[in-house]
Amino acid sequence: MTLRRKTLITVGIVFIGLLIILYFISQTLLMRSFSQLEEQRTRQNVEQALNALSNDLLTMKTIAYDWAVCDDNYAFIEDVNQNYIQTNLVTETFTELRLNLMLFIHSSGRIVYSKAFDLHSKEEMAVPQSLLSYLTTSDLLVSHSDPQSIISGIVLLPENPLLIVSYPILTSEEKVPVRGTLIMGRYLDSSEIGRLAEQTLLSLSIHRYDHSPMSGDFQAVVPSLFEKTPVLVRPLDEQSIAGYALIRDVYNKPILLLRVDVPRDIYAQGQATVAYFILSLLGVGVVLGVVMMLFLDKQVLFRLTQLSQGVRNISISGGLSVRLPVTGEDELSDLGGAINVMVETLGQSSDMLQGKNKQLDAQNEELQSQAEVLRNEIAQRKQAEQALLKSEAKYRNLIENAPVGIVISTPEGRILEINKARLAMAGYDSKEEYISRSASERYYDPKDREHWIALLREKGKVEGLEVRFKHKDGTSYWVSMSSIPQISESGEQQLIIVAQDITERKQMEHELQERNERLDAQNEELIEKTWEVERATQLKSEFLANMSHELRTPLNVIIGFSQLMVDGVPGKISEEQRQCLSDVLDSSQHLLNLINGVLDLSRIESGKEELNTRDITLTEVIESLSRTMMPILAPREQSLDIEVEEGLPLLHADKAKLRQVILNLVDNASKYTPDRGKLKIEAVRNGGWCRVSVIDNGIGIKEEDRERIFEPFCRLDNSLAEERGGVGLGLTLVKQIVEMYGGQIWIESEYGRGSRFTFTVPLAASGKSNP
Ligand code: ADP
Repeated sequence: MTLRRKTLITVGIVFIGLLIILYFISQTLLMRSFSQLEEQRTRQNVEQALNALSNDLLTMKTIAYDWAVCDDNYAFIEDVNQNYIQTNLVTETFTELRLNLMLFIHSSGRIVYSKAFDLHSKEEMAVPQSLLSYLTTSDLLVSHSDPQSIISGIVLLPENPLLIVSYPILTSEEKVPVRGTLIMGRYLDSSEIGRLAEQTLLSLSIHRYDHSPMSGDFQAVVPSLFEKTPVLVRPLDEQSIAGYALIRDVYNKPILLLRVDVPRDIYAQGQATVAYFILSLLGVGVVLGVVMMLFLDKQVLFRLTQLSQGVRNISISGGLSVRLPVTGEDELSDLGGAINVMVETLGQSSDMLQGKNKQLDAQNEELQSQAEVLRNEIAQRKQAEQALLKSEAKYRNLIENAPVGIVISTPEGRILEINKARLAMAGYDSKEEYISRSASERYYDPKDREHWIALLREKGKVEGLEVRFKHKDGTSYWVSMSSIPQISESGEQQLIIVAQDITERKQMEHELQERNERLDAQNEELIEKTWEVERATQLKSEFLANMSHELRTPLNVIIGFSQLMVDGVPGKISEEQRQCLSDVLDSSQHLLNLINGVLDLSRIESGKEELNTRDITLTEVIESLSRTMMPILAPREQSLDIEVEEGLPLLHADKAKLRQVILNLVDNASKYTPDRGKLKIEAVRNGGWCRVSVIDNGIGIKEEDRERIFEPFCRLDNSLAEERGGVGLGLTLVKQIVEMYGGQIWIESEYGRGSRFTFTVPLAASGKSNP
């Protein structure tokens, strides 16, 4: 919190506190005196009212004196003179004297004359019975033994209180004896009270003090009135205050309560005075506060702020050359001056310190670089240690969890460590259990152990020695063992032995060996049979070749002569003979074809046929073929299209054989295509191969027949086959030739709509993959 705010709050709190205290003091002191003043005035008013009432009675007493001490009246009480009544006791008497009743009572107690009068209606009325009951001879009001015993006061009648005066009747000289009593009465009714109020200028009211219920404020004051004071004052509310007095009757019995209401103008004046006082005080306080704050601000706070800002600037900038502005001649300017002196001193000592600091910095730097070197050394050493520890742990972990058996032993064969995998091979749970067993319990043949240890001692490094061991449950297992010598950390010679379970491999080897033996036996048998078959085939081929050759010569003779005879060279023959000779010619031709086919086939099968491969152009082969093919196609009116891919490289093939393949395929295409059919030869390059297709739109081949037709002598059943003839060897020969130079042949066909025979031929240049 700023000093300005603190000052403002403090001044504010002090001022408000003072104001509150002043308010309470003025409220209590001033208001108390105002209240006292008010009470005093009210009391005076009550007394004034009571006085007015006694004055009233006093007047009545004077009137009564005039009437009672009079000779006429003295006589009247004895003689009851009617004349006296008519002259004196008339209506005017009552109205003028404002009397309600007059009673003339003889000393014997007899009422000589009585008259009651209503002042409002101005009419005579009956004397109230209640009053008459008072007037017995013994009563205070009637018994006037003494001429001075005048009674005046109030009597409470049921209808109204009555102001009453009782006077002894005497002569004008006031001579005794007292002849009787004169009683005069005036009702203390509302009009009488109003008259009294008018007279005193007060607001009066009267309340009966008998059994009729009393209003709240009366009830509250009655006990106090009885106890101490005759007059009591009580504020009724903010506007009015009341004074009370108890009124007693002639018998000194309390009968009435008088109340005087007074407006509280004094009290209100007091309140207003206090309010003005406080308000003016507040105004003065505010003005004073503002003036004081302005003064404080200008003379102290503003300059203080300036000083603190200056000091803060010095501390932020660190510039010890800066000085604070010093104005005026008071404590604040002294403070500014003192700060300036201090800053100057500080500046000097800071220069000194900076010099020293620089020296220290240099020393520090040197020390730090030394420390850095040391730290690096320590860190390196630590790293090395950790790496060592890690590699040690890794190495242990590796050995323990390696999937192969690992044993570390002395060169004498004493086991130092053995891992889980090795124990599992032998069926043991712990190293202790394993080494507690004798050699004969662990090895299938205990001699193997001796051999193994001898090897270790001799060579140290052993690789893949296969040893048969004994499992804990008695069964045997095979292990391939290799050892590597090493030097332990403590410098002793050790061996790391890696053991691999090869039981399965051994079993397989065993089985394989058995199978091999069996196969070898079968093989021998087979070789023998193959040899026999080969021999038989060769014999067959040789036989066929010989046979064909032997058959071809006479057949050619038959064909030649038959043709000559059909042509009629030797002489004329009949038509019937010509027909017979034609049949001979056809059958011979067929037979020759058959023999040629068989001969070709057997030559290839016997392996005697050799390929005379060269680089050739396909178009050349096809063109030379078309000349041969035209005579076949022309009579059937079939067309032949040729479509060779542009830029097709040279083929690497036997020209004659290639010709034979294409010719056979075109011949078939023509044979199995009805007249006026369409034939086509297509050639495309495919990798290192050329694909040659022969296409027709003939009868087609069923799916199930497509493999079969390459078998020798296979001919399918169809109308054209019958008509066009054939021996069933063409495709067999084609397949054999294609396969001779590594090619393939296949068929695509839609039964009834045509076939496409495709075969592959190697290209002259480079690769020959993907036929
Ligand atoms: P053939 O001398 O009977 O023609 P092939 O070995 O040349 O003997 O043919 C075997 C069989 O294959 C033929 O009998 C024929 O039924 C069928 N065949 C061959 N080429 C076609 C073809 N282009 N269209 C329909 N069938 C054919």
